[in-house]
Amino acid sequence: MTVSRADRAEGSAPIPHPPSIDRMAGWPALAPLIGRAGRPLVIEALRAWADAMRGALEVDDEQACARWCAARLAGLIQPSQRRVFNLTGTVLHTNLGRAQLAEEAIQAAVEAMRSPTTLEYDLTGGARGERDQHIAPWLLRLTGAEAATAVNNNAAAVLLALNALAEGREVIVSRGELIEIGGAFRIPDIMARAGCRLVEVGTTNRTHLRDYAAAIGPDTAAIMKVHPSNYAIAGFTKSVSAAELVPLAREKGLPLIEDLGSGTLVDLETWGLPHEPTAREAIEAGVDIVTFSGDKLLGGPQAGLIVGRKHLVGRIARNPMKRALRLDKVRLAALEATLRLYADPARLAERLPTIRALARPAAEILALAERVLPALAAALGPGAEVAIEPVRGQIGSGALPVDLLPSFALAIRSKGLDRLADAFRGLPIPVIGRIGAGKLYFDLRTLDDEAAFVGQLDKLGAA
Ligand SMILES: *Cc1c(COP(=O)(O)O)cnc(C)c1O
Repeated sequence: MTVSRADRAEGSAPIPHPPSIDRMAGWPALAPLIGRAGRPLVIEALRAWADAMRGALEVDDEQACARWCAARLAGLIQPSQRRVFNLTGTVLHTNLGRAQLAEEAIQAAVEAMRSPTTLEYDLTGGARGERDQHIAPWLLRLTGAEAATAVNNNAAAVLLALNALAEGREVIVSRGELIEIGGAFRIPDIMARAGCRLVEVGTTNRTHLRDYAAAIGPDTAAIMKVHPSNYAIAGFTKSVSAAELVPLAREKGLPLIEDLGSGTLVDLETWGLPHEPTAREAIEAGVDIVTFSGDKLLGGPQAGLIVGRKHLVGRIARNPMKRALRLDKVRLAALEATLRLYADPARLAERLPTIRALARPAAEILALAERVLPALAAALGPGAEVAIEPVRGQIGSGALPVDLLPSFALAIRSKGLDRLADAFRGLPIPVIGRIGAGKLYFDLRTLDDEAAFVGQLDKLGAA
């Protein structure tokens, strides 16, 4: 407590007088917080402290003040986007950031972040270069296409391709493929934003080649196929494959565009997974423009890849919208490094986290569950029951919409499951699971840092 000279001079009773903000900022107990948060934020917190403690003796309590300010600034000091454990059972979880990058891609991205690069610079002549040149040769090699370019994401790739090739004109799409991917990506909306008129053919469950043929008119600019990534129609169905559409498109001189969605550069059957269409298959079938995502099955950074015929990719790359949708040097570096890994498919499962997670043998996941179970049971105490259960996970992000990845989960049965799930989300590295059938499930297919997971379980009580 300080008593100012003025108080004494007037002879009034001494009242607690808040120490000056500047003096409080000099308290040794606040030094670590100033180190972490910077002086301006701490001054702001000290003003709030002085306000909150006005008239209270505690205002002068250095330790209490430091604790109060640290708690107040905790939300600001801690990054908003944080690392989590994705134990949801969905490998490519859009809300949790989809693909984890390979170490090679991380290194390349870090290098590009730190330094000037040859982003648009040709070292041989010292002249201006093309940013797509870093990834196009790899995409040609991996897909067999004549040309390639890349943009912000696959939604942008579809938007740009449609605008460049069909603005003001008609594009024919099967009714069975008028999909919504989530996050407001609906084919009819994208079509409208691209300035194209959608011509729907067929019915929800059945579309025939003759439906496409009958819809072609003088205003038709393209035929489009969309991979129905996130749902499957079963029963009395008929769709026309891209390969079947090629002769029709050729005969009418129309570009055939295919949005593969997830799309992959390797045959997933190599790892015992069901077949997903590859970009090479689409190109070999004769599709003129193929688009797919960088951060789904491909396992790279967020990007939209466009491969196909040279003159069409050229029109797409010259479209002014390309400038607004282009990739930055960091993602291009990560994408180039990711694509380079595909040159050695035999080692992909080792080096690319997405493939590693998808190909992880169930026996390995079971062994992991057996190792982790005792620590989890001990941390939860007698109020909860933990068991290992066989579960089925998903690839996610629109690839193969059915549960098909046989895996093992730690299943917790306990009172107050929602509160328990909250507590796991409150850990230093938040753990995200899935609640179902009265249990909290942690699918361990995607647990790669066992030590960090187990190491923080003792904080569960505090969380
Ligand atoms: C995921 C997906 C998209 C959107 O791709 P983003 O890379 O998320 O923009 C578009 N079309 C299909 C068929 C998809 O599966």
